[in-house]
Amino acid sequence: KNILSILGFSCIIAVIALLALGLTQNKALPENVKFGIVLDAGSSHTSLYIYRWPAEKENDTGVVTQIEECKLKGPGISGFAKKLHEINVYLTACMERARKVIPSAQHPETPVYLGATAGMRLLRMENQQMADKILDAVANSINKYPFDFQGARIISGQEEGAYGWITVNYLLGKFTQKLSWFNLKPSKDDTQETYGALDLGGASTQITFVPQNEMIESPNNNLYFRLYGKNYSVYTHSFLCYGKDQALLQKLALELQGTSEIVHEPCFHSGYLRKIKMSVFNEGVCARRYMSSSSYHPFFDIEVRGTGNFQQCQQGIIQLFNSSYCPYSRCSFNGVFLPPLQGQFGAFSAFYYVMEFLNLTSQEHISTKKLTEKLEEFCAQSWEEVHLNFGDVKEVYLSEYCFSGTYILALLLNGYHFTDETWKNIHFMNKIRSTSVGWTLGYMLNLTNKIPAEEPMSAPLSHS
Ligand code: AMP
Repeated sequence: KNILSILGFSCIIAVIALLALGLTQNKALPENVKFGIVLDAGSSHTSLYIYRWPAEKENDTGVVTQIEECKLKGPGISGFAKKLHEINVYLTACMERARKVIPSAQHPETPVYLGATAGMRLLRMENQQMADKILDAVANSINKYPFDFQGARIISGQEEGAYGWITVNYLLGKFTQKLSWFNLKPSKDDTQETYGALDLGGASTQITFVPQNEMIESPNNNLYFRLYGKNYSVYTHSFLCYGKDQALLQKLALELQGTSEIVHEPCFHSGYLRKIKMSVFNEGVCARRYMSSSSYHPFFDIEVRGTGNFQQCQQGIIQLFNSSYCPYSRCSFNGVFLPPLQGQFGAFSAFYYVMEFLNLTSQEHISTKKLTEKLEEFCAQSWEEVHLNFGDVKEVYLSEYCFSGTYILALLLNGYHFTDETWKNIHFMNKIRSTSVGWTLGYMLNLTNKIPAEEPMSAPLSHS
């Protein structure tokens, strides 16, 4: 009887102990998190991203997530050349948002980076002093906030491509090595093959991927990374002037050659009319190359009249890709080396926005034929019809979707030489696990050393 009661008593003690253990283990410990801010100063707009990660797991892959995107109201920073004094106000709303979202005790240790892309690369080519002044004004303004500001700079096209590639593969979990069950060696698993990155901005476009056993014939297009103990030899190229806004300007400049002030534009809907100052074509290197001094009159207004014809639009766009010379074994266009395309690709930024509007981003495969048919039909609609059907879409975007869709098709097929078959490997994407796909996350991961590499084979890209 005694033994039984001792046993019963022990059981009760054990249950109480287990309950107590369970309770303490389930009690959420205060999470120790860190934050980082990156401003993407693009050619047409600026966005501020706030990232968060658990402090104890900084170096694990996939732990950094985006908790906020704030779009600044107004143009890209290159648009402030003549109104530097407005930069403070421009930045206020989103910087204040960051102040609210991040706990104040952590403001001093939160790094802030600003990277400007092709809009500022173009301005710097025209007027280096002005570009510096804008960056100084931006830096002075951000410095007034309580964060750990790390500087504002123009990133190179190579960096833009590389960081976009890092972002995609970090978010897809491609950098973690899967060990095979028996010998604990990295497995030869196709699912760990990295994705290529296709980024389309307003002023430039980037293509970045790991080619298969291929020599990268031009050193400028080659980057080496050692990430999580694995070597990557990455091909990247950034085409300045081939972002969708500058490509449209090139296209219109091409139409303008040798004609009067009226341009008939098949990439705009019939009934659509746009007035453009001729001086706009002379403002940057992209369209200026098509302007002859005899036909250039800075004070003229050009009237662009839409004719809405997909085939003619496509024919005109294809002329922007010069394939008449190639100093390498193979090229994309304009004499730029391109190895054979390899693997799956994530296509983001404007690639996504345009395909999303056309309703062509769904997971099931959408063929080039379907995109062509959609564009044929859409481009042929009158502006009145389009406006009526999509009244809630921003007018400047709406008026350009026929051009933008046709441009994307031509860039991918004629520029990069995707085929009807390899088109299947392109995945149009905007967010992965609530985090926007773009260069900013990769930039922050690199600058805060969140991707360990035992032996970098090249100097890490720096924020100087
Ligand atoms: P950037 O400002 O250089 O990053 O370029 C972004 C590009 O995406 C610009 O050409 C914008 O016009 C374009 N863009 C942004 N949002 C949309 C949208 N909703 N639809 C179409 N184009 C867009």
